[in-house]
Amino acid sequence: MEVKNCKGCGRLFNYLGGPPLCPACVANLENKFIEVKTYIRENPSATIQQISEDNDVSTKQLKQWIREERLSFTDDSPIGIECENCGAMIKTGRFCDACKAQLQNHIQSAIDKPKKVEPKKQTRDKERMRFLES
Ligand SMILES: [Zn+2]
Ligand SMILES: [Zn+2]
Repeated sequence: MEVKNCKGCGRLFNYLGGPPLCPACVANLENKFIEVKTYIRENPSATIQQISEDNDVSTKQLKQWIREERLSFTDDSPIGIECENCGAMIKTGRFCDACKAQLQNHIQSAIDKPKKVEPKKQTRDKERMRFLES
């Protein structure tokens, strides 16, 4: 079994996969999440900064929940995060609708076309060259 330092409290724990947090910190985070969700329901116009301060949660954590689509906001909420592709403001997830559609096409065409395999010999030669140069 793998033993890791918890990213939240620094204690050693038996790591079973997922985020490097001990069971206690995972439970804490889950409580926080419920707290934040309730807070957002009661304060639909709160900004990320406000939520972070009032609930003692980092904005980084909040954004992560938004990326994971665990938190979502109403249309009149000032909260938004940038689309990871084009930077447009979105309410949840990682990409805006346009980029999501584009990405879907991308994935589709990647499936259709067979992957190009780099010839192995070429890389070997390049490595040898680097070896000779150094
Ligand atoms: Zn911990
Ligand atoms: Zn986009």
